[in-house]
Amino acid sequence: MTSQNHATPSAPSLSWLEIDAGAYQHNLAEFRRLIGPDRKLMAVVKANAYGHGLEKIAPLALRFGADRLGVNSLNEALELLALELSAPIHLLGPIPMQALPAAAGLPLEFTLSTFESLQALARGAGKSGIRPQCHIKVETGCHRQGFMPEEIPSVARFFADHSELQWSGLSTHFANIEDTTDHTYARRQIEIFHKVERDLHALGIQPLLRHTACSAATIVMPETHLDMVRLGIATYGLWPSRETLVSARSGGSERLPLRPVLTWKTQVAQIKTVPAQSFIGYGCTFRTTHPTRLAILPVGYADGYDRRLSGVGHVLVRGRRAPVLGRVCMNMFMVDLTDIEGAAVGDEAVLLGKQGDEEISAQDLASLCQTIVYEIVTRIGGHLDRRVCGL
Ligand SMILES: *Cc1c(COP(=O)(O)O)cnc(C)c1O
Repeated sequence: MTSQNHATPSAPSLSWLEIDAGAYQHNLAEFRRLIGPDRKLMAVVKANAYGHGLEKIAPLALRFGADRLGVNSLNEALELLALELSAPIHLLGPIPMQALPAAAGLPLEFTLSTFESLQALARGAGKSGIRPQCHIKVETGCHRQGFMPEEIPSVARFFADHSELQWSGLSTHFANIEDTTDHTYARRQIEIFHKVERDLHALGIQPLLRHTACSAATIVMPETHLDMVRLGIATYGLWPSRETLVSARSGGSERLPLRPVLTWKTQVAQIKTVPAQSFIGYGCTFRTTHPTRLAILPVGYADGYDRRLSGVGHVLVRGRRAPVLGRVCMNMFMVDLTDIEGAAVGDEAVLLGKQGDEEISAQDLASLCQTIVYEIVTRIGGHLDRRVCGL
């Protein structure tokens, strides 16, 4: 024991994530079945692979049949390039203007939605000799990124004048697909997209890789699949929303058996019994009504365990629910073990995932925090260990 120094940065983290590679493989296989063998499947691995760990997930995605990897930022793309994987890396988000000329020399696929960024990329391409692959994003109603549909003929002229750039794709993104079971707005967006396509066709523009669908669109609107789908949240075994689940079931589409990939665990650090009338934690927001056996868990909001779970969350210990007592602190919180016989220091506590017959799902936590599953998983601290299992 004396040789172990728990203060070094290489010490194991007090809470960790287990990444079920088998579940990830299963989910990707389900989507491959859904879209067929010929369409391309982009595995979206932005935001540290939705909290699952970019470096762990990216190689698995390619091994399990993804055709390319999607990231948001140039820095994420650089991290992927350093892994030397053999698949296209597709940038979905904006790139700092001053970084664009240099980025033109990197083997990446770019999402472009302004003339300024096209010009900056063209300047860099002229110098590097590499022909950057450009995906033009069309605004169809999200009003986030994208050229307005009426700008697309000018975009076509730009490419005609700049042979140093390769026009590879045409994309858009849905505004209102996860939040509703009424997909009228999404259908209007896809109509606008098809109109742009027809206009380009009339101009004699060669077929481009057309892509519009995120997870929810892929699941509930097969007409959005086109040439490629861009799949994030559902590949990690999480439904984008309850509405998407309802739409999938009521739409008569066959059930998609997704399997959550991530389990978030910690270990009981200390146990103590306190008398009735004891206050627990900061702000004295909870007071015991009977002698209470507490566990101290060494994880908190700085690790991504949301402070909004104070007094309302549960964790699993020995396959049973232990309620969170009082406030979640920065690096610790307390749970009630009074009814969990035999629980001991060192026991595993599951913050998110299954243990025995019990489960705490990302949707459970999202509902308690009045947010979406995306936020729950992407905010799990990047500093925690991610351990791949099930291979
Ligand atoms: C994040 C993102 C996706 C993936 O969305 P999910 O809902 O997680 O499947 C797809 N397309 C774009 C442009 C994105 O930014």
